[in-house]
Amino acid sequence: MADATNWVGSRLLLRRLRDEMAGEGDAQSRLDQVVCIIARDMVAEVCSIYLLRPGDILELFATEGLLKTAVHRTRLRVGEGLVGDVAAHARSLSLDEAQDHPQFAYRPETGEETYHSFLGVPILRGGRVRGVLTIQNQSRRNYTEEETETLETVSMVLAELIAGSELGSPNEFAAADGIALRPLRLEGARLNGGLAMGKAVIHERRTKISQVVAEDPAAELDRFDAAVQRMHRSLDEMMEEIGGQRAGEEHVEVLEAYRMFAEDRGWLSRIREGIRSGLSADASVAKALSDTRARMAQFADPYLRERILDMEDLAYRLLQHLHEGENGEERRLRKGHDAILITRSLGPAELLDYGRGSVRALVLEEGSATAHVSIVARALGIPVVGQVSGLLDKVEPDDDMLVDGDNAVVVIRPGEDVRQSFAEAMEQGARRQAAYTAARDLPAVTRDGVEISLNLNAGLLLDLPSLRETNAAGIGLYRTEILFMVRGELPGVDEQARAYRRVTDQADGKRVVFRTLDAGGDKLLPYMPVAREENPAMGWRAIRMTLDRPFMLRQQLRALIRAVAGRRLDVMFPMVAEVAEFTAARDILDLELARAKARGEPLPEKIAVGCMLEVPSLLFQLPQLMARVDFLAVGSNDLMQFLYASDRGNVAVSERYDILSAGSLRMLHGVVREADKAGVPVSVCGEMAGRPLEAMALAGLGFRSLSMAASSIGPARLMIRSLDARQLSSFINTLLDGTAPSLRSALCNYARDHDLRL
Ligand code: PEP
Ligand code: MG
Repeated sequence: MADATNWVGSRLLLRRLRDEMAGEGDAQSRLDQVVCIIARDMVAEVCSIYLLRPGDILELFATEGLLKTAVHRTRLRVGEGLVGDVAAHARSLSLDEAQDHPQFAYRPETGEETYHSFLGVPILRGGRVRGVLTIQNQSRRNYTEEETETLETVSMVLAELIAGSELGSPNEFAAADGIALRPLRLEGARLNGGLAMGKAVIHERRTKISQVVAEDPAAELDRFDAAVQRMHRSLDEMMEEIGGQRAGEEHVEVLEAYRMFAEDRGWLSRIREGIRSGLSADASVAKALSDTRARMAQFADPYLRERILDMEDLAYRLLQHLHEGENGEERRLRKGHDAILITRSLGPAELLDYGRGSVRALVLEEGSATAHVSIVARALGIPVVGQVSGLLDKVEPDDDMLVDGDNAVVVIRPGEDVRQSFAEAMEQGARRQAAYTAARDLPAVTRDGVEISLNLNAGLLLDLPSLRETNAAGIGLYRTEILFMVRGELPGVDEQARAYRRVTDQADGKRVVFRTLDAGGDKLLPYMPVAREENPAMGWRAIRMTLDRPFMLRQQLRALIRAVAGRRLDVMFPMVAEVAEFTAARDILDLELARAKARGEPLPEKIAVGCMLEVPSLLFQLPQLMARVDFLAVGSNDLMQFLYASDRGNVAVSERYDILSAGSLRMLHGVVREADKAGVPVSVCGEMAGRPLEAMALAGLGFRSLSMAASSIGPARLMIRSLDARQLSSFINTLLDGTAPSLRSALCNYARDHDLRL
């Protein structure tokens, strides 16, 4: 950390840079001066600025000390050489002997061979690397931490100055590729389904920093503290508005967690430290954000990375409050604006700034299904497509756009024919929806009188209204881990009990099957650091984790018993591989029931304990398992990936094997037979149950209970009502003896020939 003398020193340097950049002359001559000032101040023989050009090329833009003829000639790819390494990792690099570094790339035109020590720092802006700033010395010297920190601060100021309007077009320095104004189709990840048409609104965050250096740090600190107070007040107002309407729902809780984050002292004190070192409050907020963003970008853990989104939202909100008169209000779009909101990432509160009813869809360069903004968007019924790479480089404000949240596809500037067919698809979707709504109260019974129970998969309170909308029989799979994933710490018994209670309250007496925590694998809990695993899907997850940390399972089961108090309890365990694991988990439930009884707490009226069938080893223990379980749920997503040794998340192999093959259908048929023999109810709750053709096959194999996403219930109901179960069973039996790797087309033909509604 810089001491008082360094603050004064760096303040002077920052001021000189600001004055130089605001001065006369063209951009190039000002940059030439800037490198001289930095070199002199840092007592370096060389100071160079490399800026990022289109195609991930770093171009030498200005240098003091290297040969001037290399300017605009020396170019390195990101990742190439030391400069490329700094850019690739968004990380400073300090070396006393540059040429010993394996990444060193010799560029004879620069004449740099006489310089031994090297210090390079990334030029970051808005969380992106814009270039690299370096100093070099002939002597072999180790740059101190203070020197690195000073150069990082200088580079941050430089980034703002380069982007600032006083230099005219930023393109003078780092021109982006010309945007070809032709239709483009981009793919991403489905974060919330639905279709939307509208015009692109690029979500702009206030990043233009009018003043980088503060003349009077004490006065600047006061200005900052006043802005923090204003921000807290306006967040309280937002919370009141939202919380008053729909208290207790997930998106409200997400916003509450966000409000608490706004109070975080560590974050605020880092910004204050920056102000004390001479930065303006704006610049210090931007620097704190940029530093954290660049650091977090190194982590693969999606949940850690998501934390940064809340911080970004807050940082930009704080920047607005630093400039009085600018607040969220001005974001509000008029109703009927039909905005397709385009941005790299978005905080949950930022989406609300736009007001209700004007944003038709949200498209993000980043984002994940559990990101806080996705949860809020789901509550508002806004389709969201995330992880669309290069999005911001390709969309212009007011571009016409089509968003297909169901298939995670975005079309920019569609041609008239594409737009027409999309509009037709939207109309057709609305008609189909109307047909599902009309059939909502009809029983899911086949033509020959076989009833198939259609259930929902859920994991958020927000999913609960679908129970009534779709008239599903109940919730066949409630994924409790989502509650654990959106929290900053392990939820306690009371908090869990309240959450589960709300689920059963809203289920209107319908059955809810709670699955105990299925964390680990790709579902990491931010507060439970786990060792890096070579194969996380086959690692320390689900029941393995909770049996090894029995307090977690005990707390969860205690919360469930408390939540259902007097009602029925349906609970099942994920990823069981051995009957003994199921027995151990059931014993823990018995312990908790005994505890509740001893304390005179109300017990569940009825208890059913189930096991998920997701690990193939259980297929060879079925009779023993059936003797101990009250019901069985086939998790076909995991079962399929382990059966075929084919990673469900790896697109190169996830589609390689068809679950509608003779082999896997024989396996599933065997499971139904064993369950029927033992009189144990069995359901399927993996994705296959929600696809009409697969659901048809499952009904033909003898499954009488399916659990799926809300959007699949309507299609499944119509399909079942058009089916003759016995006829289909005999047809499927004729296929099971074969070796076909896919029975898809045979089943499709059957459906077509028998007029089934798929
Ligand atoms: C499954 O594996 O099929 C399942 C339902 O569990 P999840 O998708 O939550 O792993
Ligand atoms: Mg699973």
